[in-house]
Amino acid sequence: MTSHRGFTVWFTGLSGAGKTTLATALATKLGQRRVKVEILDGDEVRTNLSKGLGFSKEDRDTNIRRIGYVSCLLARNGAGVIAAAISPYRELRNEVRRSIEAEGAAFIEVFVQCPIDMLAERDVKGLYKKALAGEIKEFTGVSDPYEAPIDPEVVVETDRETIEESTNKIIQELERQRLLRTSQAPVSSQPAIQLTGVPEAA
Ligand code: ADP
Repeated sequence: MTSHRGFTVWFTGLSGAGKTTLATALATKLGQRRVKVEILDGDEVRTNLSKGLGFSKEDRDTNIRRIGYVSCLLARNGAGVIAAAISPYRELRNEVRRSIEAEGAAFIEVFVQCPIDMLAERDVKGLYKKALAGEIKEFTGVSDPYEAPIDPEVVVETDRETIEESTNKIIQELERQRLLRTSQAPVSSQPAIQLTGVPEAA
């Protein structure tokens, strides 16, 4: 089943906050409801579509515009998109929102919140230690700005919630906006073949 109206779930938050983890978990949950989505992950995009771009404001903006452009192309054709990129600048995120909404698709901004001391503790990519020691210039949240969303559709707090709780919040928002069919049960609880009306002996 595809959604009748396209949408982009846009994860924003600091490095290590849980954007990729939640994007993958959300895609799995939607897949169980036969909703196919495309994931545009910031780290991945930087190795292909945005290869060669750095972390200056200009390069970050270009990166986000590219992710926004692809999201827009997909969402306007009724696809579901999940974008997961730090996307530190509010104005750029709003620019992407405007372009997607102008095409009649939905933009669901999800603020992936996590305190910096927890991020430094997780240090998934080993970057916080270096950044806090002043070894990385332009590290978002430490030596480069991060502008938190003012009115996001969903806020998840990954230091307090489970992945399940956070993804459920997003699904609820998609349902609230009628972007998914609420009656659609997960695939695992449905029989693979409908046998109603088939004579047992047939
Ligand atoms: P980002 O994409 O924002 O840089 P990642 O998803 O790569 O972040 O890393 C987040 C890390 O935090 C992962 O190692 C993940 O397992 C861990 N984590 C712990 N609790 C949560 C949670 N509730 N939600 C998301 N990630 C979590």
